[in-house]
Amino acid sequence: MIYGAAALALAALAAPAAAAVPHMQMWRLDCGSIDVADLDVFSDTFLYVGQKKTLTDSCYLIRHGENYLLWDTGLPGELAGKTAPPSGPFTMSLKARLVDQLARINVKPEQVNFVGISHNHGDHIGQASDFPKATLLIGGEDFAATKTSENAGRFAPWIKGGAKVQETKGDLDVFGDGSVVILDMPGHTEGHQSLLVRLPRTGPVLLTGDLYHFTENMEKHGVPSFNADRSDTLGSIDRFDAIARSLKARVIIQHEVRDIGKLPAFPTPAE
Ligand SMILES: [Zn+2]
Repeated sequence: MIYGAAALALAALAAPAAAAVPHMQMWRLDCGSIDVADLDVFSDTFLYVGQKKTLTDSCYLIRHGENYLLWDTGLPGELAGKTAPPSGPFTMSLKARLVDQLARINVKPEQVNFVGISHNHGDHIGQASDFPKATLLIGGEDFAATKTSENAGRFAPWIKGGAKVQETKGDLDVFGDGSVVILDMPGHTEGHQSLLVRLPRTGPVLLTGDLYHFTENMEKHGVPSFNADRSDTLGSIDRFDAIARSLKARVIIQHEVRDIGKLPAFPTPAE
């Protein structure tokens, strides 16, 4: 009798929890391509002098139940269908805007509740203003620096449009259940952050932001000469690699062409 009552009580406790498990999906979105004529800037110890490489630029859409988080917003949308004139060692091109890619999976810009920004560089914030209803999740230092920079217009909805900003300090568990966690990884910029996504079938996925730009950079711990802080970068590398090992996570370097295949090809989501 007591056993039966306890079992019933347990079942009552378990049922809502099981029903509350959100449907999770994750898509890789193409946010551009960057030809680098000289990789020298990606190491302050002369690892890559004179080498050339093509980097990709990736963004990610994560569905958590009825909520959507867009992680990074890529190169500027006005570049769609074009290649920009070279800027220093970089030549950038973009095939299609994010909003047009999202239309293919029937996601409207206003359905994107959160826009998470790994850091405030132009190849990560280019199309943020196409999501003016979203809450912006960004490192506080990076938001402050962008407000007074030539890139301020990219954040116009949040700087002067009244849209909500959550300036992160430390890690942020976006949905409160540990499934999507912004990780504080300063160094590339002061407010730089990476993302942990725990998918039910795929398992833990770690998105680097620009803690690393390509595979050799991760293997040799190359620190770009344009990083904000060398020792912060090395501290973040140490933490990121330890998290990857302990969770046995799938690490995706957002700019690495070879990592594109670590998620299904759009429009198929990882689950
Ligand atoms: Zn970048």
